Amino acid sequence: MRVREGFAFLGLVTGLVVTSSLQAGPASTDIQKLYDGYRALAHIEALVDFGPRIAGGPAERAAAEYIAGEMAGCGLDVQIQEFPQTFYEDYGSVLEVVDGPALSPNTMLYSPTGEFLGVEIVFCGLGNPEDFEGVDVAGKIALMERGAITFASKVASAADAGAAAGIIFNNLPGNMMATLYSMAAIPAVMISQEDGQILMGLLEEGPVSVNLTVDAEYYSSTSQNVIGTLEGLHPDRGIVYIGAHYDSVWFGPGANDDGSGIGGMLEAARVLTRYGHRTQASIKFCAFGAEEVGQGGSESYVMTYMDEIASQGLGMINLDMIAVGDTLNIGNIGWADSALTEYTQEKATAMGIEEWVPWTAGTNSDHVYFEWVGVPVVFLYQFPDPNYHTAEDTLDKIDLPTLEQNGQLATAVLYDWAKNPALRVKKSGALDVVE
Ligand SMILES: [Zn+2]
Repeated sequence: MRVREGFAFLGLVTGLVVTSSLQAGPASTDIQKLYDGYRALAHIEALVDFGPRIAGGPAERAAAEYIAGEMAGCGLDVQIQEFPQTFYEDYGSVLEVVDGPALSPNTMLYSPTGEFLGVEIVFCGLGNPEDFEGVDVAGKIALMERGAITFASKVASAADAGAAAGIIFNNLPGNMMATLYSMAAIPAVMISQEDGQILMGLLEEGPVSVNLTVDAEYYSSTSQNVIGTLEGLHPDRGIVYIGAHYDSVWFGPGANDDGSGIGGMLEAARVLTRYGHRTQASIKFCAFGAEEVGQGGSESYVMTYMDEIASQGLGMINLDMIAVGDTLNIGNIGWADSALTEYTQEKATAMGIEEWVPWTAGTNSDHVYFEWVGVPVVFLYQFPDPNYHTAEDTLDKIDLPTLEQNGQLATAVLYDWAKNPALRVKKSGALDVVE
């Protein structure tokens, strides 16, 4: 068991509050048994078969239609919310030093295309606006180091200074995939720290020119969120959200990231619509698009329905990568109260899940905007996944027992939280609200 002592103790003290018999109906321990990992796995297989589900593209849209069909088949009231999304597919970059070595660049997501032959590179520090003062980079390629500010602001400053393109080298060993979040003014690529050191070494000896090509396809398009609602017996008592994203990175099939979350959520929908006692609060099953390019789907959803979410949201369960790795992370960012996270941690222990740890979630998945408007969040994330954001994130890597365990946990928590909306109030100490 890899739980911090404080949390284990908390679980022992408060874990029993939750089964108060305010409402009749099956216990979540019975509900979770109805959850079938094989059915969740079948959804993942269906998603993977669409190919990489690139935000704004046809495979992502086909996956959305599949999810909408499955939700409707469960009897959920399905709504599709469209939002603008640039489709971007990378066909690769080439970077070589003239009369020197070939390097290994990664195109930065939302880099325009371009070809630059025999163009000089100029080192521009971290790419802060002041780093360009007195530097003649006009018409040349700005070489910048990762760190301190966003990639997008580095590239924007380089463009403002008149640079034709940008190269950013990592400040850690190896290379990485990086995004500019929206179409940049000039092409930009990412290289490894090692490749960066090669260029810096050559610059110490004199001027350096490179050949740089960025090849990609992009166009204005739309993505969509698929929202399935299961209305509660007393919808005025609030809404519990469960979310996962169905898009994938453009270079991988996204079986675990995040086919696993969608599969887990759709199986939860089947269990709760077919077998669940109707809950007090409503439940919204949210399949988000465009997560991999900056959480565009969940951002659009929360911004569009902010009043409803902020005033009625009892909790949000985010499932992103729940089926590979040996340890389950259960946590939230800390912007809203931790009632749902604590409840889920207690539930995990009560279910006999040994390999879980509390964590402070990052801001890199679909829970962010919910927590930002004050909704208690729990983010379930199994780790480590050695194939994260690679072409190897394939169906055969999915661990069925883990998928089933985490899906059962999510289903039980979702059911309890919607069955008894007072849980949030009790656990967060605000005793004068709701009931
Ligand atoms: Zn993901």
